[in-house]
Amino acid sequence: MRVAKYYGRDDVRLEQIPAPEIGPGEVLVQVKACGLCGSDLMEWYADSKAPVVLGHEPVGFVSQLGSGVQGFTPGDRVFVHHHVPCFVCHYCRRGNYSSCPTFRENGIYPGGFAEYVRVRAINVQWDVLHLPDGLGFEEATLIEPTACAIRGVKRCGMQIGDKVLIIGAGVSGLLFSQLSRLWGASLVIATDLVEYRLRMALEFGADAVVNAKAQDCETQLLEATGGAGADLVIVTPGSVAAMQQGLRLAGKGGNVLIYGPLPPGGTLPVEVHDLLFSEKTLVTTYSCGPDDTRTALDLIRRDRVRTKGLVTHRFGLDEVERAMRLAAQATESLKVVITP
Ligand SMILES: [Zn+2]
Ligand SMILES: [Zn+2]
Repeated sequence: MRVAKYYGRDDVRLEQIPAPEIGPGEVLVQVKACGLCGSDLMEWYADSKAPVVLGHEPVGFVSQLGSGVQGFTPGDRVFVHHHVPCFVCHYCRRGNYSSCPTFRENGIYPGGFAEYVRVRAINVQWDVLHLPDGLGFEEATLIEPTACAIRGVKRCGMQIGDKVLIIGAGVSGLLFSQLSRLWGASLVIATDLVEYRLRMALEFGADAVVNAKAQDCETQLLEATGGAGADLVIVTPGSVAAMQQGLRLAGKGGNVLIYGPLPPGGTLPVEVHDLLFSEKTLVTTYSCGPDDTRTALDLIRRDRVRTKGLVTHRFGLDEVERAMRLAAQATESLKVVITP
């Protein structure tokens, strides 16, 4: 079968490898679409695994079943979650699924940018979900990103009526703006440097937008919130400057959710005086559990979270390098998917 193997950002090769053989409890899935995630573009992350077949947001058809698999038949349309927790370890018992050692193992082989993936038995058991008829494969690639945002919203302590500022109007920002509305935010403001993304933010849940290149975010925000600042700031880029801006723009008693990571060793200078006397809270979130993927699918299938229009570009397996370059520019694109 064909795979796109990543050797480096400017070196992704189309290669032939044997299709995976499956064992008891496992499933072979023919990949029809796989989202390109921001993490695939982080060179510190991808390069440390290279050479590697990236892609962890696959959806497709069930192609073969290992012995003992129940609930699936060949031809079923499915979402595959690459991560599942064990449910019984210390972290799982506290609901911190993404800290579970089992969760940290990758449950799909070789990776989503391939014609077929083998899905490990425990993943088949807990987090392979049937896609409803009306939901296309491209939109279904947004189940995992939506689930990650749902986990972020659950962790960040958003309350009904909150005024929310979202830094970064990429696909995560647009999912957060929709979810904030669902969670009862009274005002959602999105900020970005790219005019196209701000226009999209207005279509996908933001009440107002601020072009951080042309306008002063602080003035705009204070005006919109009657001087109070944001009750919640969601920082989607993995950037120190954006995180510091988020801390500054959170109002007294406000929470700041850090969504995009920094490389290992990356530090964030924080003015503790302001943090403490303003009772601001820094919250982080990482990935999502099988509860979140189900919630995401429910919200997407009922159009509570709108995914139509979020996928802006599709590329074949032989074009992954181009796809990555386009997504990394972060200009007139939102979700980029690979369609083997
Ligand atoms: Zn991802
Ligand atoms: Zn566990």
